[in-house]
Amino acid sequence: MSTLLRPRSLPHFISPRLLGTEAPRVLAAVASQCQGQRQPVSADLLTFEDPRAFKAKSVWELTRALCVFQFCSFPKLVNNCGKLMSFTRALMGRSAFSLLLRPIVYAQFVAGETEGEIAASMEKMSSLGLHPMLAVPIEEDLGESTGERRYDDNLATMLECVKMSHKNAWSKDPMMQLKITALVSPELCVRLTSLLAKEKYDLNRLVSAMNGEPIIFPGLRDSENTHFLLGLQRLNQIGEASEGKVRVLVDAEYTYMNPALTLITMAMMKKFNQKQAWIWNTYQCYLKESRMLLLDAIKRSMDHSFCLGVKLVRGAYMDKERKLAVQEDREDPVHRSWEHTNDSYNACLDIMLNLIAQKPDQYMIIVATHNEASVRHAVTRMEEMGIERDGGSVCFGQLLGMCDHVSLTLAQLGFSVYKSVPYGSVDDTLPYLVRRAQENRTVLQGIRKERELLRQELRRRMRVPG
Ligand SMILES: Cc1cc2nc3c(=O)[nH]c(=O)nc-3n(C[C@H](O)[C@H](O)[C@H](O)COP(=O)(O)OP(=O)(O)OC[C@H]3O[C@@H](n4cnc5c(N)ncnc54)[C@H](O)[C@@H]3O)c2cc1C
Repeated sequence: MSTLLRPRSLPHFISPRLLGTEAPRVLAAVASQCQGQRQPVSADLLTFEDPRAFKAKSVWELTRALCVFQFCSFPKLVNNCGKLMSFTRALMGRSAFSLLLRPIVYAQFVAGETEGEIAASMEKMSSLGLHPMLAVPIEEDLGESTGERRYDDNLATMLECVKMSHKNAWSKDPMMQLKITALVSPELCVRLTSLLAKEKYDLNRLVSAMNGEPIIFPGLRDSENTHFLLGLQRLNQIGEASEGKVRVLVDAEYTYMNPALTLITMAMMKKFNQKQAWIWNTYQCYLKESRMLLLDAIKRSMDHSFCLGVKLVRGAYMDKERKLAVQEDREDPVHRSWEHTNDSYNACLDIMLNLIAQKPDQYMIIVATHNEASVRHAVTRMEEMGIERDGGSVCFGQLLGMCDHVSLTLAQLGFSVYKSVPYGSVDDTLPYLVRRAQENRTVLQGIRKERELLRQELRRRMRVPG
């Protein structure tokens, strides 16, 4: 087993400040694990109802989170936050707006701008037993394409992200997120997707192109071929820089480009995942075809003998997917209800956990969700199957600033937990924040429990000083 996957000892993993004298049942289970007897975590222990999960947060951090979540509980405000922010910025001017936003929304959801700020934020996270998953907030959709030079600049930023992810003391078993559309134009991804519906591309050809061979892909125009080759070579540089150091999790985007993103990701997996899963793909369980796509990935990983890393999410683009399906008069690709999406999520999770129980070195998964029931499901199945909590094959992921009660409780129990951490200036991260707020509005509006736990912790601090 590589040193990167080495299980850590629990005492190192737990902040002593989080273990109070009246430790509740959850923490009692952890304490006994520290003495070497690993207690099973039954689902009823994972109620995520202990406000002491927030013990390490300052009063200001608790108050800030409470105010931000209160704001997010109003759908009209979240839906119009982009316009609201643009209007306020125009009214106040860029610098004053930045000064206003920085200590509140920005500080809640973004790690910082300078390396020093990011390091301070990451060190704190690390002391709580959480791992970083850095995310460069670059994203493009159709019609937003920029020239080759801009993609090269994005590559430099991504390579910097790879470096920052692994070179610091706080970076233990690091992961980072990658949007392929930051390095290859969304237009080309859409074009490839339509070609892939007619004929399959051989993964080996893409790997050869990554290695610099001049290959012509059937169906593409000359300029598209040139851009594709350059894009694959940019992705190859990310693979080479991260192999053995940082796990690169490729984001899933819209169904009109996902097949191309998956093809490219699979080629990266074929090249870089021969011994371990360094490149991962994302599967969106709100899609009716998600189970089939996951099974297809598993088959390809077997056929081509590479390790498979999976980021399992529900999916962030539901509204747009549905709107497009109506406009184009085709079947809605998204499950018809949240309950159907939940069933799909649990089914995909079970497929992966069954594989991991048999071959933990070959398959890996990050259960990327804020949904407590899914987390409980994963934990229960892991315990039943004897999958190690921090063995490296299964980990959990939430966004920075969201559902800390879930992340911290899991980390305290010895599970491997990652926080997706965007960084950059207020200007650079603003579009990202607006998109994330709108994509996650169901979660943001539903976090009544987190608000209540924050209130309880604040009340407790007021009664008991220190
Ligand atoms: C670490 C991390 C990485 C992520 N990476 C990606 C990524 O690469 N691509 C991506 O698309 N998303 C990504 N997401 C976002 C994710 O897909 C979800 O939007 C978000 O996490 C909310 O889902 P949940 O499981 O946390 O919460 P829940 O509240 O349990 O579920 C909300 C989700 O359920 C689905 N849903 C809600 N209502 C309905 C309905 N009526 N019918 C059908 N489905 C419904 C939607 O997907 C909605 O986002 C990521 C999230 C995390 C934490």
